[in-house]
Amino acid sequence: MTFNELKISEPLLRAITEMGFEKPMPVQEAVIPLQLESSQDLVALAQTGTGKTAAYGLPLLQRLTPTAQPQAIVLSPTRELCLQIADDLEAFAKYLPEVRILPVYGGTDFMPQLRALQQGVDIIVATPGRLIDLMQRGAAVLKNVHTVILDEADEMLSMGFSESIDQILEGVPAEHTTLLFSATMSREIEKIAQNYLHDARQIVVGSRNEGAENVNHIYYMVHARDKYLALKRVVDYYPKIYAIIFCRTRLETQEIADNLIRDGYNADALHGDLSQQQRDLTMQRFRQHRIQLLVATDVAARGLDVDDLTHVINYGMPEDIENYTHRSGRTGRAGKKGTSICIVHSRERGRIRDVERTIKKDFVRGTLPSPKEICSKQLWKVIDDIERVEVDEEEIADFLPEVRRKLEWLDKDDLLRRVISREFSRFLRYYANAPEIEDVNPQDKTAKTKSKKTSNSGRRAVGDHSPEEGYTRIFITLGKVDGFYAREIIGLVNNRCPGPKIEMGRIDLRPTFSFFEVPEEEAERVLKGLKGFSFKGRRVGVDIAEEVGTAERSDEGWRKGNRSGSGKGSRSGSGKGSRSGSKKGSKKGSKSGSKKWE
Ligand code: ADP
Ligand code: MG
Repeated sequence: MTFNELKISEPLLRAITEMGFEKPMPVQEAVIPLQLESSQDLVALAQTGTGKTAAYGLPLLQRLTPTAQPQAIVLSPTRELCLQIADDLEAFAKYLPEVRILPVYGGTDFMPQLRALQQGVDIIVATPGRLIDLMQRGAAVLKNVHTVILDEADEMLSMGFSESIDQILEGVPAEHTTLLFSATMSREIEKIAQNYLHDARQIVVGSRNEGAENVNHIYYMVHARDKYLALKRVVDYYPKIYAIIFCRTRLETQEIADNLIRDGYNADALHGDLSQQQRDLTMQRFRQHRIQLLVATDVAARGLDVDDLTHVINYGMPEDIENYTHRSGRTGRAGKKGTSICIVHSRERGRIRDVERTIKKDFVRGTLPSPKEICSKQLWKVIDDIERVEVDEEEIADFLPEVRRKLEWLDKDDLLRRVISREFSRFLRYYANAPEIEDVNPQDKTAKTKSKKTSNSGRRAVGDHSPEEGYTRIFITLGKVDGFYAREIIGLVNNRCPGPKIEMGRIDLRPTFSFFEVPEEEAERVLKGLKGFSFKGRRVGVDIAEEVGTAERSDEGWRKGNRSGSGKGSRSGSGKGSRSGSKKGSKKGSKSGSKKWE
C-alpha cells in the first residue's frame, strides 16, 4: 500500500515524501480511507509512535477548504504534544499555504494566541484548559467546527480533563465528526465514546507497535536494594546507550536521576514536578543527544518523540501492562533493533509473566554483566573512539612538533598504557571494588547461602534488619501462630488501604509478630489503614519499627572514600567506620514481641 493508493493529494504527498514517509503505517492505512470517504465518527486504539498524527492530519488537511474560521480542533493533553502536533500538521501542509494552524496551550501569554485567532485560523490544536479560556473570552469561535479530534484521549482523562472536554464539545455544532485516539480502552473512554460519538467505527491497531517486533525483552532480577547498582551495570555495559529509564513515581525519578548525575553519568530527570520550561529544555537536550539517559515517569515521557533509542529501561515494572507496551514500544523503531530491559526484584516475577502473556513474547532472563565484561566493553569503546578520531592535520600541525619532543621518551606501548589509564580509570577503579549484586532466584534456596559467604563486600549482610533503601519497616503484632504469612499480610495491607496498590518490600515473619516493609512514602497510608484493626477480638498493634543504632545503609560511604582517596582502594578512609560484614549479630528468636528488634 502506498500513500498514492490511499488517494492522498499531490501537495500532501510532496510534503510527506520530503519528510521521509515512504509507506503508510497501519493506523494510517486504516484511518485515511475512512476519513476521506465519509465523515463517520471513529475510535482508534493505537500506541504511541504508530503515526496517529498523519492518520487524522492528512485526511483532515485534504478535505479542508481554508476559510480562516476554525473548522477543526485537535485536543491533546500537554503543551508539548500540542506543539508537536501543530508542527507535524504544519509540515504536512507545507504546500497548502492558505491553511492556518494554531497551537494554543496554557502557561503562556494569552495575547499572541488571541491575536492569531483574530487573524483567522483553520485548525486549532489545543490543550483543553486554554481552549476553554479562549472560548469564554469569545476569541475562539467554534460554530464552524466540523471535525474534533481527541488525541491521546486516555491521557487527557487521566489528567482530569474530562469535564473540560465535555464543555468544549458542548460548544461545537451538533453536526460534526469526532475522532478519538487512545492507547488504551478504559471504561471512561468508552463512556466518552458513548456520549459524544455516534455510530462510531472502532479500529484497533495491534496492541503491539510495528516496532515491537524488533524489541527484545530482558529482565534482571535482583534484590530491591540492588536495583540501582544493577542499573549502573547495565548502563555501563552499553557505552553508547541512549535510553529512557522509566520510574514509577516522580520522587523515584528524581532520585535515580540525582544518583546517576552524582555518579558521573550524563543523565537528567523528566517528571511532572518540574516546570514546563524545565521539561521543555530537558526534552530538547535529550532529543539532541546532549543527555544520554533520561529518567522519566510514564506520563511525562509521553510527549517525547525520539526514534533512535537504543534501550528502554524499566526501573521496576509499571503498574499497568499497557504502560509496559508503551514504554517498550519506544525502542525498536524505524526498522532498528531495540531492547527493553527490566530491572526487577523477585516480587515482580508475576508481573513479568503477565506482560509475557499479554504481549505474547517471552522475556529473557539476563545475567548482569560482570565487572570484567563491563570493563572490556568500556575499554573497547575508548579504543574504538581513538581509531575513529578524525585528524585534522592542519589544525594540529603547529603543535605536533612540540608534543613529539615532550613525549619522545615514551614508546608506543607506554603511550597506550597512559591513554587507557587516563580515559578509563573511572570504570577500572569503580569495578575493582564494586559492590556485589546477588542474583535472586526465589525458587533457588541456595542463593541465600551463597550470598552469606560473599557478603563481606561492603554490602549489608543477610539477616541485617535495617529496611531496604526507600522502604519503611513496619511492625505488626500478628505472626505465624495467627496464620499470618506473606500472602495474608499483603492482602491485609491492600484491603485496608484503599487507593493505589502498595508495593510490599521484605516481609519478616515471627511466631507472634512480624515486620514488613513498604515504600517510605506509603508508610503513613499503611499505618492509617491498619489503625484500629482487630483480629479475633484482639486489637492489633501496628507501628513503625524502631531502628536500634544508626544503620549504615548505603554503601556510599566507602565508595566515595574509595574514589576520592589515594586511589589504592583503602576502605577505611571514608571516616564512616569499617563496613565489614554484618554490623551486628542478628539475635533471632526474640519472642518478647517488643518493638525493639535487635
Ligand atoms: P503517535 O501520535 O501515534 O505517537 P506520531 O504521529 O507522532 O505517532 O508519529 C511517530 C513518528 O513516526 C513521527 O516521527 C512521524 O513523523 C513518523 N511517521 C509517521 N508516519 C510515518 C510514515 N508513514 N513513514 C515514516 N514515518 C512516519
Ligand atoms: Mg501523537
